[in-house]
Amino acid sequence: MIVLRTVAEVREFRLTCESVGFVPTMGALHAGHLKLMESAVEENVVGIGSIFVNPLQFGAGEDLGNYPRREAEDIALAEGVGMRAMFCPSVEEMLGRSSTRVTVSGVSDLFEGERRPGHFEGVATIVAQLFGIVRPTRAYFGLKDLQQCAVVRQMVADLCMDIDLQFIETIREESGLAMSSRNGYFSESDRAWAAHLNRICRVVAERLVEGRDDFNSVFGWGKNELSRHRFEVEYLDVVDFRTMRPVQSVDIYSRLVVAARFAGVRLIDNLAVIE
Ligand code: AMP
Repeated sequence: MIVLRTVAEVREFRLTCESVGFVPTMGALHAGHLKLMESAVEENVVGIGSIFVNPLQFGAGEDLGNYPRREAEDIALAEGVGMRAMFCPSVEEMLGRSSTRVTVSGVSDLFEGERRPGHFEGVATIVAQLFGIVRPTRAYFGLKDLQQCAVVRQMVADLCMDIDLQFIETIREESGLAMSSRNGYFSESDRAWAAHLNRICRVVAERLVEGRDDFNSVFGWGKNELSRHRFEVEYLDVVDFRTMRPVQSVDIYSRLVVAARFAGVRLIDNLAVIE
């Protein structure tokens, strides 16, 4: 395992790699990240990851300062699944001289984009920069962050980046709670309770497919059920993954999307409506 700190070091290492599977992360790695890394290692000659807690994608009042940072442990985990190099740049290395910002409109307008102004501009800017540095053959993203996948896909298409994107289904704890670096903010009992989010969403998806009630009454039922379980719902909807716009009928592109606060933690999750 090689730890790379600068753009120049990545460039030099890249010369020795035939094909590269790239997994960008913000660290505090869990089984979801490791699944992406395993795919990168399996499908490419070399797997390269990155750890960068990107200040551009955090809004005022969000958890940039508290975000978990455990680089040594992360590097050992990445090495364990066969990654060959981790790029861990400083904020200065990434942003010290940069004044370019990448805005992807349309797919970023609603849901997370609406509630976290500037978030996707921060994501797209850093992902574009990382792609320019690493020049991956394939890049791996988790469907846990569904809208992020849609934004990166749009950016890669619009800017004609020659990168094969791979989206990996969400890895969950046994309880059904989507794995997240932020789950560490929960107490043990709150973490167990947070699994109701996914459980209720699965029932909502089943009801939508059954089609006995119209979408609005099913969403009304779901929101009510979530509130009863002490979730403060921000949105619950069904979107077409390709456009991130709400839909009124379901097909293979439909994903149920949810954002809710529980015990001081903001959770997002999504699932395919038709399995
Ligand atoms: P993050 O470190 O949160 O920026 O995540 C890095 C990558 O891991 C992103 O592509 C995420 O979508 C992905 N990821 C995060 N959580 C999960 C999960 N539970 N299952 C699969 N992928 C995930």
